[in-house]
Amino acid sequence: MYYGGRGIGFGWFDPTYLLLIAGALISLAASASLKSTFARYSKIPCASRITGRDTALRILQAAGIRDVQVTAVQGSLTDHYDPRNKTVSLSEPIFGHYSLAAVGVAAHECGHAMQHAENYAPLAIRSAIVPAANIGSTLSWPIFVAGLIFSLRPLVMAGIVLFSLAVLFQLVTLPVEFNASRRALAMLVQTGILGEEENKGARKVLTAAALTYVASLAASVLQLLRLIALANGGSRRDR
Ligand SMILES: [Zn+2]
Repeated sequence: MYYGGRGIGFGWFDPTYLLLIAGALISLAASASLKSTFARYSKIPCASRITGRDTALRILQAAGIRDVQVTAVQGSLTDHYDPRNKTVSLSEPIFGHYSLAAVGVAAHECGHAMQHAENYAPLAIRSAIVPAANIGSTLSWPIFVAGLIFSLRPLVMAGIVLFSLAVLFQLVTLPVEFNASRRALAMLVQTGILGEEENKGARKVLTAAALTYVASLAASVLQLLRLIALANGGSRRDR
């Protein structure tokens, strides 16, 4: 386990921890907001009484997509679209329910299927950098710490670059998520699943979900700033 300040000359308290704490608080606030918004709109049924599953089927059909499956998946807020097997997976609170939250989330996942069907560029870029981002988030910290311990500047810089790949991934995720929600809300009205007034509720759920991605990005940027601060603190000590 890496022990904060000692090795890099900040004394007993590493002030860069404040960046981590701020990031954690932002993430917590966003996920709490999503949970409460989701709970609220899960209790409001849509007038059309169309379930999440049927919402997905109707939207895919309206979009002219015939090769995407709709399945149920365990858990809550585990809904996703997998481009590898072209499957929209809907969680239990979404699949068989007709709340504003359920149809909103189901439509959002179909938004990703629509992006995939038309090779929406940010989605393609995001898929392309997944491996690099995974390597980056796994190796950045060990390489960075090794660089600090052995005072090897190139290793420290490599750690920062690797972490930046993970941040880049989260940055590209934002347009993908916002665009999927935009498509979803348009389709919900176009296919007659929700009225204009009901659509506002679905929009609130999808906006709260999108904000969790913004929060994750903010937390990662703060972590990146922390790495840069630690790298500079380490080099000051070396001089
Ligand atoms: Zn999404």
